[in-house]
Amino acid sequence: MHSDEDWAKILRFRVMRKGIAINHHVYSSIWSSVKQEVQVIYENSCWKVGNGHNINFWSDSWCGEPLALSQNVHPDVLIWLPSKVSDFIQNQTWHIPHYIDTLFPQVKNLVQQVTLPVEPIADSLVWKDSANGLLTLKMAYDFKRHHFPIINWAKSIWSKDIPPSRSLLAWRVMLDKVPTDDKLSERGCNLPSMCSLCNNHSETMFHLFFQCSFAFQIWCWLATVLEVTLHFQSMTDIWLLAEKNWSPQCKIVIKAALIHLLYAIWTARNNARFNNEMPNWKSYVSWISSNISMAGNLTNKLSSTALRDFTTLKRFNVNIHPPNPTSIKEVIWQPPFFDWVKCNTDGAFNAATSACGGLFRNSDAAFLCGFAVNTGNASSAFSAELCGAMQAIEIAAFKNWNNLWLETDSTLVVKAFKSSSLVPWALRNRWLNCLLLTQSMNFVVSHVFREGNFCADSLANIGLTLDRLTIWNDVPLVIKDSFEANRLGKPFFRVMHI
Ligand SMILES: [Zn+2]
Repeated sequence: MHSDEDWAKILRFRVMRKGIAINHHVYSSIWSSVKQEVQVIYENSCWKVGNGHNINFWSDSWCGEPLALSQNVHPDVLIWLPSKVSDFIQNQTWHIPHYIDTLFPQVKNLVQQVTLPVEPIADSLVWKDSANGLLTLKMAYDFKRHHFPIINWAKSIWSKDIPPSRSLLAWRVMLDKVPTDDKLSERGCNLPSMCSLCNNHSETMFHLFFQCSFAFQIWCWLATVLEVTLHFQSMTDIWLLAEKNWSPQCKIVIKAALIHLLYAIWTARNNARFNNEMPNWKSYVSWISSNISMAGNLTNKLSSTALRDFTTLKRFNVNIHPPNPTSIKEVIWQPPFFDWVKCNTDGAFNAATSACGGLFRNSDAAFLCGFAVNTGNASSAFSAELCGAMQAIEIAAFKNWNNLWLETDSTLVVKAFKSSSLVPWALRNRWLNCLLLTQSMNFVVSHVFREGNFCADSLANIGLTLDRLTIWNDVPLVIKDSFEANRLGKPFFRVMHI
């Protein structure tokens, strides 16, 4: 909509006039459909305020729902009011005239929730659901495409360690597409039906794969080897077997077992029906076993040290791929240099809300102050972590702590200080303002493992229960132990995979 790239300019020239899609017909299917999407784009976008010159204060979406709608402003009143967002900004701070405040008392509150950039930049229209605000072709495709329900078992069936021809049969079984007699009769092909494996029952898919005495023997064998009781209410239940806490290598083995088991039953049925071969379930079991063993040995997935994984793999004659060796790393919190202030920050995140917290300490590891704040319905844990870093910088600037060492357990936050494009658009103005603050400080940022950041972690968790910014001037009780441990230089231990 506002890109300076050539293709965007051409599109705008063809279908837009003064920010609105043209009304007249264009003799082209492509241009006409572009025209239809303009409204969709506006409905799913909003403005990130810069200098405010391009945004209509009342009718554009920039601080939630357009103010004209949320405040019920009558169109006759609207024409007398200042219309641009820039009319309400003075020296990059909000300036709401007194009469607007009297007429619409809620406006001031809503507007002040939007952070203005300290250095004026151009306004930009951002796609709401995108972290960086850009609408990419991938997002547009995802937005427009038809969303099908997610099927849990789909991932269990396809694996590069199992031949696709075998997986295909399992796929057809799950989709009810195997041509058993009951399926053929549904398609109008009415023949007398008899299960070729037991000659004792009409052939339905459920009978063939689960109830038939032949299938039953094989399932019993699998249950014995895995030491589990099998009880299936529906087809999808069989894949739950591979969901349990198995090691990755074991999971492949179990998936291979299920897929080859279904394949063996179908092969036995076809051999019995078309080649008159009486199937012996034991020979099919040994065929399944050798295929499981092959899949388990060829995979590059690793096992664990658990005894259950070990015995299962051994029973299928699979060589165990040992897990990566681990090492124990000592993590010690370091106090800052003399005359410096160190702030550890962290974010917390749950389904309902998010929060951040942190604490400032001096070179004697003494407590200066701590904070926790609820950051509302943030879109990710990363946003909460960023809020923690920003809050720390703002507090340090306010207290004139000009030698600031910021420490976080999020590597992404450390990276964000090098590349602001990682920061979600909704936090971008505040983030750039904070970077500006750090330019007038001696500022360093570093990463610490979570084990060295327990105090900040606990404060962030408190933030989840708060409704406003809370500042502590004394060590809060909940972090007393970990604070003391840090102060005395006690190590914490971290298990690392080499
Ligand atoms: Zn049968």
